[in-house]
Amino acid sequence: MSVSILGLPIQNVTMSEAVDDVYGFFGARESKIVVTPNAEILQMYSTDPAMKEALEKADYIVPDGVGVLLAAKRLGTPLKEKVAGVELSRNLLEKAAKEGGNVYLLGAKPGVAAEAKRCLEEEIPGISIVGVRDGYFKPEDEPAIIEEINALNVDMLFVCLGAPKQELWMAEHKSDLKIGVMLGLGGSLDIFSHTLKRASQWMINCRVEWLYRVIKEPYRIGRIASLPKFLLSIKK
Ligand code: UDP
Repeated sequence: MSVSILGLPIQNVTMSEAVDDVYGFFGARESKIVVTPNAEILQMYSTDPAMKEALEKADYIVPDGVGVLLAAKRLGTPLKEKVAGVELSRNLLEKAAKEGGNVYLLGAKPGVAAEAKRCLEEEIPGISIVGVRDGYFKPEDEPAIIEEINALNVDMLFVCLGAPKQELWMAEHKSDLKIGVMLGLGGSLDIFSHTLKRASQWMINCRVEWLYRVIKEPYRIGRIASLPKFLLSIKK
């Protein structure tokens, strides 16, 4: 049940189906990779060979963005709905708090992951956050980080290093890690820690969340300017 965009199999699932599928990865310690591409990530996939290789190692790909939904529709294979990484991960935290499962938070500026842990523990009773680490480590720190994660018997690892860093990191370390699943989630820890505010619900509903992000973080304008043309160029 996937839709092919540029050859990448994007899951055609509702949010609740995605939550169940990813929760299903907890049991086996296969370090499954979940990626949440928006149009910008799709563009990196088509222009950056390293990103192409990394995304091809993903086990489960969900559409995080209106651009991906529009591309699927134009190809005549519409997707059921947007599955935003920030919502998918929060829903997974809620399910794990009720039904079992823990999480390790990796990424964002120093202090943000710890603050996200504090906020999530306050907001989601029963949640089990077994470790945190900021995303500004050096390559030589990686073996110790991986050793720590493996020692904690982690069900899900949130990898919040931004794109393409997080996708490359997950692909590189899949075989080193012994966890249930890892998800590349961009700026989600900034949202969970309330360091950044997400767009209001009406903006999300009207499919203009991207506009909110451009207003809040104007450096994104250059990055997204080429996306409409790129999306229109996608063929079957
Ligand atoms: N980040 C990080 N390590 C880095 C670079 C970025 O942890 O070396 C974090 C950054 O602090 C922010 C997130 O990655 O929390 C970037 O996510 P966002 O989705 O905003 O960026 P994008 O993927 O759009 O570049």
